[in-house]
Amino acid sequence: MKKTKKQNNTIYIILCFLILLIILLSFLLLKNPDLLYKTQSLFLRSENHYEIEELNKNELKAFQIENTDWPSNQSLMLVNNEYSLPENFSVDLAEYRDSTVFMNTALLDDYALLTEAVTKQTGDKLYVSSVYRSYEEQEEIYEEDPIYANKPGHSEHQTGLALDVYVESFSGPAFIKSKAGQFIDQHCAEYGFIIRYPENKEDITGIPYEAWHIRYVGLPHSMIIAKNFWTLEEYINFLEPGHIYTVNDYIISRQNPNQDILLPDSISDIHYSYDNTGYIIITARVNN
Ligand SMILES: [Zn+2]
Repeated sequence: MKKTKKQNNTIYIILCFLILLIILLSFLLLKNPDLLYKTQSLFLRSENHYEIEELNKNELKAFQIENTDWPSNQSLMLVNNEYSLPENFSVDLAEYRDSTVFMNTALLDDYALLTEAVTKQTGDKLYVSSVYRSYEEQEEIYEEDPIYANKPGHSEHQTGLALDVYVESFSGPAFIKSKAGQFIDQHCAEYGFIIRYPENKEDITGIPYEAWHIRYVGLPHSMIIAKNFWTLEEYINFLEPGHIYTVNDYIISRQNPNQDILLPDSISDIHYSYDNTGYIIITARVNN
């Protein structure tokens, strides 16, 4: 069958349109390498949620926090526009591997593991541009950039738990375009860190998306937050005071430190952190 001139024209137009579309898409991807990553991770992310179950409250044992020898750290302190750091807050700081970089002691080991993994998986060396800031330093930064920076007293950089990270040629908003940025986005939770200001959560965190600002909360909290697409605000809000949750072989409970702490008997490796909302969050392992 012979094609008419009109049919031929239509085919040409469709072909031209397709070629244009391919050129446009390639250009977009070349300009924004993170676009492909973001589309992929949308599909990857919809998979599994972390199963959180509530424990039956039979046979709980009472403890008074001051009479225990449970280790504590500052890893779950919530610091945002609503919750400022207490005036008497004394940060647990230590130098990271003779680097003159000071960070909260809670994350020294896990940050070392994270940077090693980044280099191993992407070939890039991870640097930090900002970790701990004093009240005065935060005050200066806030005056310069009140959109991204928190008010002094309200920045988690003052806890030494937050790090602004970068790799060569990719810092700030460009960080997510790098392999290291994408590795951090997908895997930092496995090392105890979260993307503290995720996309589309500005109404909760009060801060626009920052791919480069990672925050230490420790395991298993980081995994629970990441798998549920929560912010730290949503996670702490989810943990109802006095309830006891089990996640895999962990026990998690948020309780009032001025009252009896009630926990099941067959647990070990009990440790806790104040959450800066008046409670402590206790983490332990279930004995098998
Ligand atoms: Zn930051």
